[in-house]
Amino acid sequence: MSTSNQFDEWATSGQEREMEDHHWHTAKRALARMPVEAGDTVLDLGTGSGYALRALHETKAIDRGIGLDVSREMASTASDHTDTGALDFAGGDCHQLPLAADSVDHVWSMETFFFARQPISVLEEIRRVLRPGGTFFCAVNFYEESEQSHRWRDRIDAPMSLWSRAEYRSLFREAGLHVATQDTIPDEEIEIPPAEAFPTEEWETRAAMVDRYRTWGTLLTVGVAP
Ligand code: SAH
Repeated sequence: MSTSNQFDEWATSGQEREMEDHHWHTAKRALARMPVEAGDTVLDLGTGSGYALRALHETKAIDRGIGLDVSREMASTASDHTDTGALDFAGGDCHQLPLAADSVDHVWSMETFFFARQPISVLEEIRRVLRPGGTFFCAVNFYEESEQSHRWRDRIDAPMSLWSRAEYRSLFREAGLHVATQDTIPDEEIEIPPAEAFPTEEWETRAAMVDRYRTWGTLLTVGVAP
């Protein structure tokens, strides 16, 4: 299935809110670290329900938020979840950003980058639209070191690339972005049941669940445009 068809289906069945609830545990900690200032323009790639831009609008008073999603259904669902004119959601592919050079202060993306078929093109596009000194906050839960995250490949009917922490850094550098920082944000909020509850529907062992959430969580790589 194509990525857009897969996520059109998810949006039609209301799964964008489930993703939001699940990702919010670590996304909010990464968002709080973005050097966003009042009046800024922020781009969200693979916006899903649009929660990241809603949060930045409410907490940091961004002037303009642009949420792109290759799934048109997702983008229109995200529009339904907000009533502020400051946020625009549209169908669009992160390989070709419908934006002028130097027009965006910061870029956010959660659990999307590994869908890129040509990651360097995406990063070059990000670099093109960012103002000098602007940042790209790239958050992913699906990555090489987090072995228990690899299972997502079997659940999502769309091509996904499994990169390591070092590969993220070198992709950024190859596209001409500086790597300002990289770290992992553990999910301290998801409830992990006591050992007797395992296996659960989703998890074979408690250790596997601990590894996925408390040990590895979300990989955050922050790029800076020169
Ligand atoms: N950021 C949201 C959604 C993550 S799911 C969240 O944290 O919950 C990944 C999203 O990326 C999906 O909505 C999917 O349609 C979108 N996506 C995948 N490939 C894309 C691409 N090439 N360009 C833009 N969006 C893409």
